[in-house]
Amino acid sequence: MSATGPVKVNRERCVGAGNCVRVAPELFDQDDDGVVRLVPGEDARGYAPEAVEAADLCPAAAIEYLGE
Ligand code: SF4
Repeated sequence: MSATGPVKVNRERCVGAGNCVRVAPELFDQDDDGVVRLVPGEDARGYAPEAVEAADLCPAAAIEYLGE
């Protein structure tokens, strides 16, 4: 199971910058290659501001926050 709620990541687009992990480590993680992945079991609805900031800061537009 991965993070639930209105957040999506596009691993094809991710360039491994890590901004998302810095602003929202509750939701985002990086695999051994630096590619984003959602933290298992977290509910993104509890981290809306962080998810929005992560989407704004992602240089690859790889994060989508769909709102509540
Ligand atoms: S900020 Fe964007 S490019 Fe950087 S690791 Fe996160 S999803 Fe990937």
